[in-house]
Amino acid sequence: MKVSSCVLSFWLVFALPSRALAQARPFPGPDVQQIYQRLLPQIEKIPAFDHHAHPGYADDPDVDAMAAPPNASEALRTRDDNPELAAAAKALFGYPYNDLSPEHAKWLLNKKNELKKQLAGPAYFNSILDKINIESSVANRAMMPGYLDSKRFPWVFFGDAFMWPFNNERETARNPDEGVYIPLQEKMLHRWMQQESVSKLPAGFGEYLKFITQVLEDNSKRGGIAIKFEVAYFRPTTFTDPSRTQAEEIYAHYAAGGVPSEKEYRTFQDFIFRYLVQEGGRLHLPIHIHTAIGIGDYFNLSQSNIMNLESVLRDPRYSSTTFVMIHGGYPLERQAIWLAAMKNVYLDTSFGELAQYPSAFKETLKMFLETFPDKITFGTDCFPYNQVLGAEESYWLGAQSSRTALAAALAEMISEGEISEPRALELAHAYLHDTAVKLYDGRVR
Ligand SMILES: [Zn+2]
Repeated sequence: MKVSSCVLSFWLVFALPSRALAQARPFPGPDVQQIYQRLLPQIEKIPAFDHHAHPGYADDPDVDAMAAPPNASEALRTRDDNPELAAAAKALFGYPYNDLSPEHAKWLLNKKNELKKQLAGPAYFNSILDKINIESSVANRAMMPGYLDSKRFPWVFFGDAFMWPFNNERETARNPDEGVYIPLQEKMLHRWMQQESVSKLPAGFGEYLKFITQVLEDNSKRGGIAIKFEVAYFRPTTFTDPSRTQAEEIYAHYAAGGVPSEKEYRTFQDFIFRYLVQEGGRLHLPIHIHTAIGIGDYFNLSQSNIMNLESVLRDPRYSSTTFVMIHGGYPLERQAIWLAAMKNVYLDTSFGELAQYPSAFKETLKMFLETFPDKITFGTDCFPYNQVLGAEESYWLGAQSSRTALAAALAEMISEGEISEPRALELAHAYLHDTAVKLYDGRVR
C-alpha cells in the first residue's frame, strides 16, 4: 500500500510517547520572561566555539586579507560611538567612564597596554576568551601571528587570491573599493608563492593547479582548518561551470601578461573557484563563504545574493565538501536557511548579531532554530576596529548579543509550546559549540 508522506508523519507524531505537547501557540505566555531569566545563566555557562572571528591587534595588517575602504558608511550599531562599546570596555577592563571620548579613551588604551605587558605573548588574548567564556575561536586571518595560541585560535586562511593571477588593471579600476581590495589579493597571491618558493606564475595551467593544491596542503599542515572566500567583495557570486580546457586556454593567453576581458577573467575564476571547492572536499578543509552585505559603499547587494550560490551548493559533485555560509546570508536569512537543507551546508550567524540589536537578532535565531537547528553555528566576526575599540570589545559584544538573543529565542519557543526546556538547552549547546566543532574531525575543541 502506498502511504502518503502526510499520513506517515501524522502517525509518527501520534504514535510516539510524546511529551503531550498541544499544538504550538502563536504568542508566548506570561511566563516568557521567567523562562528567559532561567535559561540565560545556563547559556552563559556553555563554553563556546566562535566559528568566525578576526582576532588581533589594530596595527596588525594580517587580521584580514583585505582592508576597509576609506569613508565607508557604517550602520548605526557598528559605529564607533555606540555606547554599548563603553559597556564592553567596562565588563572586560573595568573602564570607569560611560563614553569613549578621546580623553577617556586614553585610560582604556593605557589599561590594555599594561595588561599586554603583564600577559605576554598568547596569554593576553587567551585571557579575553576566558572572560567571555569562549573555549576556542577561529582566527580568519591572512597569516597567524605569534601572539595567538594556535590551540585556542585555529586558523582559517583565505582562498580568493588564486582567482586573480593576471594583470588586474581593469579589476582595480572598477571603483574605489576595488582599488583597495584587488592589490591586496595580488599581495596575498605573492605571499602564497613565496611560501612555496615559486618566483613567478608557472607557465603551464596544470602546474598552476598543482601550486594551489600545494598551498592548501601546506596550510592544512600548518594548522589551517578551513578555506575562506570573501569573493562577494570582488565580483558577482554567480559561478558558471566552464571546462578545464576553457580555463587552460585563458591561462595560456594571460599568465605571461595582457589584460583579460571581464568575461574571460570570470570564466577562469569560475573554474578555479570550483577547483578549490573540490579540493576542499578532498583535503577535509570546509569552505567558508562570506554571504551577507559587506563593508564599503560599492558592495553590490544583488550580485552577492546568497541564492547565487545555490547551483554550487546543490551540485552533487561537491557532496563531500562542507560549506559554511558565513554571516547566514544576512539580510536574506529566510532564504539562506533553506540552503542548509543540504546535508553538507551550514550557516554561521556571525555579524548578524552585531549588525542587528538583540531584539532583531532574536527573530533571526528563532527562525533558524525552528527550521534547521542542527545546521547553525555561533560566531562573533570580532575585528580590531581601532586602537581603542579592539577585537576584545567586539568579541564581548558579539558573544553577549548572541547569548541574550539565544536565551530570548528559546524562551519564546518554550513558552509557545514548540519545544521543552531540556531540548532548548540541547539546541543551545549545539549552536554555541557542538555543531561547529563536529565539522573539523577532532582538530578543534
Ligand atoms: Zn569576517
